[in-house]
Amino acid sequence: STPGGPRAREDKIVVTVRLRPLNRREQLAKDQVAWDCIDDYTIMYKPPPQERAAQPASFTFDKVFGPASVTEAVYEEGVKNVALSALMGINATVFAYGQTSSGKTYTMRGITEKAVNDIYNHIMNKGTVVEKLVEETAKDDQHLRHLISICEAQRQVGETALNDNSSRSHQIIRLTIQSTLRETADCVKSFVATLNFVDLAGSERAAQTHADGTRLKEGCHINLSLMTLTTVIRKLSVGKRSGHIPYRDSKLTRILQHSLGGNARTAIICTLSPALSHVEQSRNTLYFATRAK
Ligand code: ADP
Ligand code: MG
Repeated sequence: STPGGPRAREDKIVVTVRLRPLNRREQLAKDQVAWDCIDDYTIMYKPPPQERAAQPASFTFDKVFGPASVTEAVYEEGVKNVALSALMGINATVFAYGQTSSGKTYTMRGITEKAVNDIYNHIMNKGTVVEKLVEETAKDDQHLRHLISICEAQRQVGETALNDNSSRSHQIIRLTIQSTLRETADCVKSFVATLNFVDLAGSERAAQTHADGTRLKEGCHINLSLMTLTTVIRKLSVGKRSGHIPYRDSKLTRILQHSLGGNARTAIICTLSPALSHVEQSRNTLYFATRAK
């Protein structure tokens, strides 16, 4: 795959990066911003004055969203084409990957909301974007939002009980979309596809590896699912030469098996803290994002 620049609609894996603003706590602690979005596709490490010898390093993706960006833009430019392919019978998965506090949940909530609206709009306005769509048998969007809120509430209960559960658990919202394409009066095609929204565990739980695959460091609380997902995504992005893909090595990848690879499409949003104090984790996230391209 080509690094950087806009991609064709039908790309299988779309990788974007979202850099959040410094939060209040980081500002009060006089933390510094360590990253610059130098154009729409490139993010660069900005060494602080005390690190004069450090080489500025830049990373290029399908799209980079800076601290002033809105979730609407992340959806429109990084997710929409992937999500809407589920209306045409193509399984799709949208991930947020990044360390705890980098903005995964903030981003995924907005993305899921916008995707649900968009899907129902396409169903109500038959054929505005995807030709000759759709007759649907799903329930209404209010019902769906209700289900999503139950899902989030359950996770929060777990969070209180387990203390910071969201950093070690994955949340998957899975929609099954049945659609019917009426080609002519007597020719009707039906599709079923799943569309997954995945708010991953904090990436600090994954075993960290360098861009060349060598091991950097391995924490004692490795999240097996996150590690397996990393391997699966890397192998999928390499393509046909990658050999065996270890979907069955973890629960998460088993659940998502039919929504990753093959005919499926994937959008990965890597979320980053801008803080200098988080620079190692941010680098690891960018290495993951680079390998996923
Ligand atoms: P994570 O799910 O990765 O642990 P959160 O989504 O909970 O992180 O975000 C951590 C904090 O940062 C939250 O208070 C959230 O509102 C804020 N935040 C995250 N991303 C952004 C953003 N792009 N713009 C403004 N605030 C953000
Ligand atoms: Mg979260």
